[in-house]
Amino acid sequence: MNRAAAVASILLVGISLVPVGNHVIADEPPLFGYSAESSRAERQWEEKLRAIPSPENLRSYMQKLSARPHHVGSQADKDNAEWIASKFKEFGLDTHIEQFDVLFPTPKERVVELVEGGPKFVAKLQEPAVPQDPTSSQQAEQLPTYNAYSIDGDVTAPLVYVNYGVPEDYEQLDRMGVSVKGKIVIARYYHSWRGIKPKVAAEHGAVGCLIYSDPHEDGFVRGETFPAGAYRPPDGVQRGSVADMPFYPGDPLTPGVGATKDAKRLKIEDAATITKIPVLPISYGDAQPLLAALTGQVAPEGWRGGLAITYHIGPGVAKVHLKVKSNWDIKPVYDVIGKIQGATFPDEWVIRGNHHDGWVNGAEDPISGQVALMEEARALGELVKSGWKPKRTIIYCAWDGEEPGLLGSTEWAEQHYDELRAHGVAYINSDGNGRGYLGIEGSHTLEKFSNDVARDISDPETKLTAWKRQQLHEIAEAKTTEQREEIRKRADLRIPALGSGSDFTGFLQHDGVASLNIGFGGEDGGGIYHSIYDDFYWFTHFSDTDFVYGRALAQTGGTAMMRLADADLLPFEFGDFADTVQTYLKELKALSQKMQDDIRERNREIEEGVFKATNDPKHPLVAPSVESVPPHLNFAPMENAVDALNHSAADYRKALEQANANGGSALVSASLAEVDKMLIESERKLTNAEGLPNRPWFKHQLYAPGFYTGYAVKTVPAVREAIELKQWKQADEAIVVVAKILQEESTLISSAAAKLATATAH
Ligand SMILES: [Zn+2]
Repeated sequence: MNRAAAVASILLVGISLVPVGNHVIADEPPLFGYSAESSRAERQWEEKLRAIPSPENLRSYMQKLSARPHHVGSQADKDNAEWIASKFKEFGLDTHIEQFDVLFPTPKERVVELVEGGPKFVAKLQEPAVPQDPTSSQQAEQLPTYNAYSIDGDVTAPLVYVNYGVPEDYEQLDRMGVSVKGKIVIARYYHSWRGIKPKVAAEHGAVGCLIYSDPHEDGFVRGETFPAGAYRPPDGVQRGSVADMPFYPGDPLTPGVGATKDAKRLKIEDAATITKIPVLPISYGDAQPLLAALTGQVAPEGWRGGLAITYHIGPGVAKVHLKVKSNWDIKPVYDVIGKIQGATFPDEWVIRGNHHDGWVNGAEDPISGQVALMEEARALGELVKSGWKPKRTIIYCAWDGEEPGLLGSTEWAEQHYDELRAHGVAYINSDGNGRGYLGIEGSHTLEKFSNDVARDISDPETKLTAWKRQQLHEIAEAKTTEQREEIRKRADLRIPALGSGSDFTGFLQHDGVASLNIGFGGEDGGGIYHSIYDDFYWFTHFSDTDFVYGRALAQTGGTAMMRLADADLLPFEFGDFADTVQTYLKELKALSQKMQDDIRERNREIEEGVFKATNDPKHPLVAPSVESVPPHLNFAPMENAVDALNHSAADYRKALEQANANGGSALVSASLAEVDKMLIESERKLTNAEGLPNRPWFKHQLYAPGFYTGYAVKTVPAVREAIELKQWKQADEAIVVVAKILQEESTLISSAAAKLATATAH
């Protein structure tokens, strides 16, 4: 921790000791970004807000919205959008539905069969209804099990098991002398976003890809299976998109622009995000006979799943026929947009979203989050009726088409790019909710703000604050003494950066709008993700059965929205931000050092004959070859930029302290619109027009989904991924680009500090 941040955290520790929640005391320090007087008023409104959301409403909304399969293009999807819009209107929001027209393939033909190497076997590719679960029998309306945006194909080839199908697995296969060229691979779900599996398989020459749910990950190895328990039954299948979303999300035919009726569209064959090889997801019931037919080497220990078979790699005599054919239709998506106009700064938009479409009935994903968002909208509407006037404009969004490819939110973020760049203060996302700990991830300029919100939310099970419970949880999970020390002492809990996998992507990584993702979880296991069993029956038996965590999510989202909308000065903070960027720099230097050390060590072992001496001739491995040791990278530009950031963060803190003097009256009397504008600009500044090397849609230079991880974030992606891919020259070039962005950020923060100091000078 740098000195400035250390000082800041000492100041803030004092603040965190003050009681929170329902017991407001007279001398409570004002909320961040508020004068003492506006803080008192705000706290009263916030308490009213948090008293409104009701578990009974959440339950009845969920029952309604998950009553029928409601995927893109279905009748229930449209009905749900219209119903949500009617509720928003009833709550008092100025509401409309915005439609986009997107490419959405649905399956016409699906075949997986074992044609050689074992008893003839044809995969069922069907999830059976469960008698006690009433919606599981709505087969006529259910989307079949498939991976959206798989290319059409009909291939027959030997089968190879590739573990999770991530790049490291192919390195291991190389060492084992196994090639997937011309083969069909079978990979298990997890350890990467699913779309990475066919992408990496195709890069290695495979002609087809099966993805199955091994019971080790979310089936009987974890717990009782549905309907006796929460976990994946033998025929349960995880549907999902396999479009190459780390390249660009949204409609494959309209990258970078809204998919309006008359938008210019690519030809399907030119859409870069459709897979290169056919892909289908299968259950472990369907996977077992295929895996059992594999011969060849026995899979390494870490590759073995939970089925009662010896896992082999292949290839051998086992040959599989895979056929996928889709209807390649254009379908409508319906985004529901509801507004409450700001009274003082109507051109500053605070935005909240959760998707409403599901793969099937989708009670947990996404309705458990959607219903909380609706209760927030109702609560804010009630407050407006009783006289509350938000300073800034509030926008509530129920997105369509998230499941196939973040379609509704991405098209909206593209269509309204200029307005969002001009007016977007922050975007707060959720996507499903469960019992447990409050998880918050996102922009580090809002780290302090999000910690403050968590301190005012009560955890339904423990009655601790959500913040305190999360802190104790992190202490329990910490691996080292050093980590525990930091969690105990640092004023704010660190929030993880955002990768992708939900609707914040367009806002944060394309438009440069500061974003947070919020949700409770960690206590409910389960294996119904993207299957027909994710429904009202499952949710009300195995998850947040009394909807108290749904209420807590509505309280969290509602509090965050109000507090951003009402602040005298937007609660952006740069000490935590600078501290985070500094840790990223440390990580990058360590990574580059490790790459050098590892290659040097391996070269030495090759020279010593380690690989020859330890090779078992009955199970031979291919020896690695000598590699040239990576050059030293020049991190100096980034180090200078981080120093500058630390200085400007301290400047801003000083200016804030001055503004806060005397009860913060200056915050109310001064005209702070220009400072607000600069604060809003602070996330835009982290983007550039060129975007990331090789994926220009992604404009944010600090946060992106990994090109080979999919959901998981790569921070400082241009530098980090270049190092990981051993592209040393590109890494050095990227350091210069990122350093320039950070220098400009630092200049902006210092200007904001100067402006704030002048505006609030006594
Ligand atoms: Zn979702």
